[in-house]
Amino acid sequence: MEEIKKEEEKSLNFIEEIVEEDLRSGKNKNILTRFPPEPNGYLHIGHAKSICLNFGLAKKYGGKTNLRFDDTNPVTEETEYVDSIKEDVRWLGFEWANEFYASDYFDQLYEFAVTLMKKNLAYVDDSKSEEIAAQKGTPTEPGKRNKYAERSIEENLQLFTDMRAGKYADGEKVLRAKVDMTAANMQLRDPIIYRIKHAHHHRTGDKWCIYPMYDFAHGQSDSIENITHSICTLEFVTHRPLYDWFIEHLEIFPSKQYEFARLNMTFTVMSKRKLLQLVNEKFVSSWDDPRMPTISAYRRRGYTPESIRKFADKIGVQKRENLIDLSLLEFCIREHLNKIAHRKMVVFDPLKVVITNYTDENEIVVSENNPEDEEKTTREIPFSRELYIEKEDFMENPAKKFFRLAPGQKVRLKSAYIIQCEEVIKNADGSIAEVRCIYLPESKSGADTSGLKVQGTLHWVSVKHAITAELRLYDRLFKVQDPSNEEGDFKEYINPDSLQIISTVYAEPSLKNAKFDERYQFLRKGYFCLDKDSSEEKMVFNRTVSLKDTWAKELKK
Ligand code: ATP
Ligand code: MG
Repeated sequence: MEEIKKEEEKSLNFIEEIVEEDLRSGKNKNILTRFPPEPNGYLHIGHAKSICLNFGLAKKYGGKTNLRFDDTNPVTEETEYVDSIKEDVRWLGFEWANEFYASDYFDQLYEFAVTLMKKNLAYVDDSKSEEIAAQKGTPTEPGKRNKYAERSIEENLQLFTDMRAGKYADGEKVLRAKVDMTAANMQLRDPIIYRIKHAHHHRTGDKWCIYPMYDFAHGQSDSIENITHSICTLEFVTHRPLYDWFIEHLEIFPSKQYEFARLNMTFTVMSKRKLLQLVNEKFVSSWDDPRMPTISAYRRRGYTPESIRKFADKIGVQKRENLIDLSLLEFCIREHLNKIAHRKMVVFDPLKVVITNYTDENEIVVSENNPEDEEKTTREIPFSRELYIEKEDFMENPAKKFFRLAPGQKVRLKSAYIIQCEEVIKNADGSIAEVRCIYLPESKSGADTSGLKVQGTLHWVSVKHAITAELRLYDRLFKVQDPSNEEGDFKEYINPDSLQIISTVYAEPSLKNAKFDERYQFLRKGYFCLDKDSSEEKMVFNRTVSLKDTWAKELKK
């Protein structure tokens, strides 16, 4: 009860406060947000935060969200990325009201530029980029306008037409907004709003050889779509005055920009540029390599949309940069998988156990699919005279408090019987070949009349019924908490042991029917899901997350 109350009373984040005030005061009748990815890479968990925020706000306040591809840079954008972005947003559980492209507005943006020129608020500048940079001044020194700022309206209009017509080479001319070269805010010092780039665009083809800059495309696109709350990350705080300046002077729909802190997470890099390097330089196999922080990688690794939404909700919306502990994301997925994962017994490193007094060869034991599930469904598992248990669950000379199998010691086999170790059989080289045990027929789980209490319960599989699979165990991709803030290249901090493959494990036969959309807990081992590399011949499972946070202990050391 206490818990539920807390959830309901959870205080509003600062953006929700703004939205509630705007709705209450009548400033906005409805809210319209947008998620504006640049299609130059796959979305990462930072984008997931932005998606949950933008779509979540609209959902909460009965508004809508547009998906807008910010495709103003013709060189880096690809259709493959557009498709993956749509898949990822849908997978997270959100549906957009409209799918738009900034490139759809190129004609309109061109007209906006003309409007500014006609108001004598934009001019064509022939300076080289170094000259433009030098004339800009410094944060403590005002910038200076050059002679091109004196051009007449007619001349500017003609030159801009010529730029569009392809008369000039890349970099020969730019269009700048005439704002204020002495402004304390450097963004306002006559920013470039159009550049020449003779490049093929993935949607507009070769129609354009001039492209609007981010600042001239983004806010105007918001305005064209009547976006009420344009939410972006903190690095755009200093762009806000310019955002408002364009809207004011173009006299268009007054969208408003609000900024929040981007998500940074420990042991992770979060920029598409860096992620692209990891893929191109083959540190990982692909964008959806399960060690990557991309949404597609989390999906492949067995994360659920619910767990990622929960994570986004837990971290909230801040105004200051911070570093979120990766363990929090892992906590969210563990919590969800504990509720939904089917339990299975899988032996990673087998030791043969022979039950010498066992003769029934057709016995089936029954085990719960998930003790957390109210429906209490069960599965059948064949039991037999020869079983595998984990090597590490047996010690010939047991350490103190080793409550698993050892000579003379008793353990329970999960959902089956209590066994007692009688004899250890060795190979010629002294290694253990098998362990011989006896079982107690009256100790069967669910019908135990033995009166015995044993401390350890082991998972097991029947040797002759076991099926095999390959496992891929993942660890953090980086060895350090904040690889982007270390000396040298971030790639020097890659964890060389981030992938461990176990080529053959032995699983209870019910795992044969594993499905891609199902999640599994391999008892005592971790949470797993079927990987897309699985084939008819070989099943491959990814470890989504371990059962416990082993790093928490490491960090405390
Ligand atoms: P990157 O630096 O990783 O390439 P980006 O900001 O260039 O990211 P965009 O495609 O331009 O990526 O971003 C789309 C939206 O997602 C923007 O509104 C951006 O602010 C937001 N976003 C990007 N990274 C994060 C992050 N780490 N945390 C929260 N929001 C983010
Ligand atoms: Mg960007």
